[in-house]
Amino acid sequence: GKYQSVGLVVGVTGIVGNSLAEILPLSDTPGGPWKVYGVSRRPLCSWSPTPVPAFEHIQCDISNPDDALAKLSPLTDITHVFYVSWSAHPTEAENREANSAMLRNVLAAVLPNAPNLQHICLQTGRKHYVGSFEALFKVEFPEPPFTEEMPRLNCPNFYYDLEDILFDELSKRDGAVSWSVHRPTTIFGFSPYSLMNIVGALCAYAAICKHEGSLLRWPGSRMTWEGFSDISDADLIAEHQIWASVDPFAKNEAFNCSNGDVFKWKQLWRILAEQFGVDFVGYEGEENRVKLEEMMKGKEGVWDEIVAKYELAPTKLNDVAQWWFVDAILGVEIEHLDCMNKSKEHGFLGFRNTITSFHSWIDKMKAYKIVP
Ligand code: NDP
Repeated sequence: GKYQSVGLVVGVTGIVGNSLAEILPLSDTPGGPWKVYGVSRRPLCSWSPTPVPAFEHIQCDISNPDDALAKLSPLTDITHVFYVSWSAHPTEAENREANSAMLRNVLAAVLPNAPNLQHICLQTGRKHYVGSFEALFKVEFPEPPFTEEMPRLNCPNFYYDLEDILFDELSKRDGAVSWSVHRPTTIFGFSPYSLMNIVGALCAYAAICKHEGSLLRWPGSRMTWEGFSDISDADLIAEHQIWASVDPFAKNEAFNCSNGDVFKWKQLWRILAEQFGVDFVGYEGEENRVKLEEMMKGKEGVWDEIVAKYELAPTKLNDVAQWWFVDAILGVEIEHLDCMNKSKEHGFLGFRNTITSFHSWIDKMKAYKIVP
């Protein structure tokens, strides 16, 4: 046929799904030319990657087994699956149940019906090493930098369930289908529909500060302000998954996936302030610690004013900004870092400059009129 590979991106409107949807169809993408199917529950938006001819959108609720079967089983030409989806629930017990069901439903629809299926990429994340949100940094975890062969924590985590479901289902297929697990840290990318988008939330925060004439205050810990941190660029994660999809040396392995450099948040805070034309303050001492969730409480109406004033793409503040997530990431008190040696040793030499990455995702937020 016209295509060498056919990718199913599950979670195509998400933070990494967006990058996959843009990169896979490019003419120089490894394994190409790619035909791409992209799944999300909600319809595409004005900011979604150009759907035609770049990819075929499939609106499907993968938490519903009947819907998953009806919409995904007819896609018999799939060769690769990129699983970049999840749903958030109040407790880890609920996360485990819901997210296990979602992956199971996708596998049940695709595995028996796609005879040319070669590879499945599963995206999880650094919480593999430090615990689920519920247990984050509260359970004993190994000394960073984190390496892929470190044992699982003695604590329930839906990431472990997803791995086990994948391994179990593929073992029934006698190695005909390979897998890779990708474990990014905090992701910089573009998606106004992501459940966790730190750049999006910070842009919304800065835009609100500008609109109200207030200072851009630092809502985090001293450690995160002054210490080294690392980030995963969404385009880099997409490249990493595409590499694992086509390179035999990357099969049936789990990999960390971060930019490969370190930075300090105080560097990015200055950039954020400059990008939105506001004055900023840095870490103000423990007694003056503020939470974004508190500072931004009840700002939904202010956001609607900003959207109207600057004629932005129609969004709700809750879609663009997840304050709890920013507080969780910037409030971290413990030094932690991923090791990228395994990816390099297996032949993936990709990297990003985090400063450039931060600039470019803010620029994209503005270009698509998500923020002024
Ligand atoms: P996002 O939250 O950015 O996107 C999720 C995607 O899945 C969206 O396209 C969403 O579409 C879709 N989706 C959710 N539920 C359903 C459903 N029931 N049926 C169909 N589509 C659905 O995902 P991430 O890339 O952030 O998350 C993937 C994994 O990466 C998770 O395990 C997460 O923990 C991990 N991770 C994320 C990080 C981050 O900073 N974002 C950092 C490190 C790891 P719709 O909204 O329309 O349903």
